[in-house]
Amino acid sequence: MRKRAIVSMVLSALVVGCNNDNKESTETEKSQVVAKTEVETTQAVFNLETNPFFSDYDTPFGIPPFDKITNEHYAPAFDKAIAEAKAEILVVANNEDVPTFENTVVALEYGGKLLTKVADVFYNLTGAHTNDELKALSKDIGPRLAGLNDDVNLNPELFKRVETLYNKIDSLDLRVDQKKLLVDRYKQFVRGGAGLNADDKQQLRELNAKISKLGLEFADNVLAETNNFELVVENKKELAGLPDYLIEAAAAEAIKRDKPGKWVFTTHRPSKTPLLMFSKNRELREKMWKGYTHRGNNHNTNDNNKIVAEIAALRAQKAQLLGYKSHAHFVLEGNTAKNPENVYELLNKIWPAGLTQAKQELADMQAMVDAEGGNYKVEGWDWRYLAEKIRKARYDLDEEQTKPYFSLEDTLKGVFYTVNKLYGMTFKERTDLPVYHEDVRVFEVYYKNGELIGLYLTDHYVRESKRGGAWMNAYRSQYVDEKGEFVKPIIVNVLNYPKPTGDKPTLLTFGQASTLFHEFGHAAHGFLSNGIYPSQAGTSVPRDFVEFPSQVLENWMFEPEVLAKFARHYETGEVIPQALIEKIQAAAQFGQGFATTEYMAASLLDLAWHTQTDTVAKDTNKFEAKVLADLGLIRQIAPRYRSTYFSHIFSGGYSSGYYGYIWSEILAADAFNAFKEKGIFDQATAEAFRANVLSKGGTDDPMKLYRQFRGQEPDAKHLLKSRGLLLNK
Ligand SMILES: [Zn+2]
Repeated sequence: MRKRAIVSMVLSALVVGCNNDNKESTETEKSQVVAKTEVETTQAVFNLETNPFFSDYDTPFGIPPFDKITNEHYAPAFDKAIAEAKAEILVVANNEDVPTFENTVVALEYGGKLLTKVADVFYNLTGAHTNDELKALSKDIGPRLAGLNDDVNLNPELFKRVETLYNKIDSLDLRVDQKKLLVDRYKQFVRGGAGLNADDKQQLRELNAKISKLGLEFADNVLAETNNFELVVENKKELAGLPDYLIEAAAAEAIKRDKPGKWVFTTHRPSKTPLLMFSKNRELREKMWKGYTHRGNNHNTNDNNKIVAEIAALRAQKAQLLGYKSHAHFVLEGNTAKNPENVYELLNKIWPAGLTQAKQELADMQAMVDAEGGNYKVEGWDWRYLAEKIRKARYDLDEEQTKPYFSLEDTLKGVFYTVNKLYGMTFKERTDLPVYHEDVRVFEVYYKNGELIGLYLTDHYVRESKRGGAWMNAYRSQYVDEKGEFVKPIIVNVLNYPKPTGDKPTLLTFGQASTLFHEFGHAAHGFLSNGIYPSQAGTSVPRDFVEFPSQVLENWMFEPEVLAKFARHYETGEVIPQALIEKIQAAAQFGQGFATTEYMAASLLDLAWHTQTDTVAKDTNKFEAKVLADLGLIRQIAPRYRSTYFSHIFSGGYSSGYYGYIWSEILAADAFNAFKEKGIFDQATAEAFRANVLSKGGTDDPMKLYRQFRGQEPDAKHLLKSRGLLLNK
């Protein structure tokens, strides 16, 4: 594997949650509750007739009518939806009938329809295409949804009903998915504070609201810092080494920023990463590296230092209020890993191997600098540049050689080809459906029996209204409704690739191309979902499992059989030469010391913040420096995310869970090995994967599902081997 597995963040737009990529929302989880409404409201208040959220979507497949939804529709829709949800909760809580699975657990499960409908659109757009009004509104809505969650979790009548059922669970004759639903719901109550006294409940509400609000401020600051930073170049000589596409993009950016004739580089990845990789100008690299790694740490109005420390302290306080040692203990209870001790055990197996390799990579770089008479010590801003030089020298392979074979359009075809061969999925583009931005494309998705199973939206290009990263999200998740109707998913993959300039298509690096496969891995988890209950659909699995299906799919991109199908030169149509494929494979393990170390450092930083038992806010810079020093991290490598722009854990849903990518990767490496043993498109293996993993969503224990697919426990050696950390040196 060969690969940069950790490329994506699946952040869910749900506040507070990569959702990533699925619903990773934490503090402000969308409440599953809600349903019917007894609320009387006047049409004047809610614009019942004109607000698109208040009627069934009159569109093909029920795709949201993006062309009719405007900013002013959200606030009244949320008002009504939240009121309905509250009323609905009371109906279930105050039901005088004896509690049953149906009238309690299922009733809660199907509640909140309007809220889900509004939130699905709203939180997708606040991530993919936001504006000042949406930003302002989300600050208001976040705490209200957190409060609504508390209305459920802290309602004593509701808890009593669920607890009654939980206590006699074995006599209820429930299916596996139903049993899990009841257990999860019960735990949700306990974890939400249902067992607390009135004062503690009030304190919990306040903590939840504060954490939620701070998370949104954190995200705004990161976005502002990312957008505000600009590296302006006035003299063409300073552009030495940079590829043409980057220079063109920088010139275009300069025009956009009213600096015609100059070049502007930004900390957005498509600008930052190639600059650090190719610029011969050490000073320019240093400015960019510092600009990127200091985001949120500039002691200005967008500074995140205090927010980080406060969030961590508040989370520790909340965990202890609920009877947990730390926030990490609280979070991990519900994960595949179960507790931080298990996570540390795993990370400690991998960290030394990665760091040793990284130090060797550094020594190789310094040797090259010295041999060339460079007369400087290698620093963080030199790493990508020197690594690229060594890669080129060692493998005679650079991105400009390979990029022409990876046009965005052809790579997407490669993704479609792969899932067609694995699962029989086919795609048909529709150009007549409403979209929220002109860059969005829509595809009908068919299963092998010819049945239409959902809609796939792609939103590939970088823009300011979109946050960074790549993720999958659902405008509608799969489930079976109360009438037994199968609801088909509407899923989007959002990425941040450069837009084509002139008549040249967008050409992708390997990392970018594999991200496209990765994100479709999440999408496949959503499309092939075959559960009953909404909260168990598709990617609704623990965070240290959710990256498993996505990382597995990345592997196919590196297979010669697949590359031969889609990797064609965008000008000549020539299939990528076999010799180049072999070079790609040889080079794939290069730089894994760095990749593993920067990722692991971020994971360990996340755990350090969240295993704290101290509830007093720390000095963020000092805390981070100590954690990294204790790890023995070399100064030339920054954690993949430093605290002040670590959105996954401070404004996404990954707190204490960033390690999940590598946990999932262990499963992915082991699972792909199952395919390699039988053939990468072996139908029995693909079907076993679909039936035991993809279709199951969150209906059963993830490790049990894994063993059913694989027939044995996962073995971590496949991961170390795939990263070249076991065999080398
Ligand atoms: Zn992902």
